[in-house]
Amino acid sequence: MSNDTIFGKIIRREIPADIVYEDDEVLGFRDLNPQAPVHVLFIPKQPIATLDAATPQDAALLGKVLLAAAGYAREEGLAEDGYRTVINCNEHGGQTVYHLHVHLLAGRRMQWPPG
Ligand code: 5GP
Repeated sequence: MSNDTIFGKIIRREIPADIVYEDDEVLGFRDLNPQAPVHVLFIPKQPIATLDAATPQDAALLGKVLLAAAGYAREEGLAEDGYRTVINCNEHGGQTVYHLHVHLLAGRRMQWPPG
């Protein structure tokens, strides 16, 4: 499969992950190397390599990924204190896995500007 990454293996259950959210189009699982007390990655099951590669046809799917993250945060009681969502894009953005993902970081006060 082109466009395949380690996240594709997680979607297909070929490698383990701590999955905390799933619907038909979106998967959410805990980051292996958490940067906050809560660090969950939300991904479209249909891979998009980067935000830069997204097209107007991906608009609804991108919205579903964001709403899945927001809904999870609300259900987990993270929204009142607040949280951060991040999409890294390409090398200077710090992207290391080329399957678009939304980081949900919570459980501590975030710094600004990010490094
Ligand atoms: P990026 O740097 O591309 O924005 O974020 C990739 C994230 O994926 C990193 O935070 C990294 O810790 C996480 N990650 C990389 N490989 C794995 C893995 O095999 N399992 C899980 N759960 N997270 C991973």
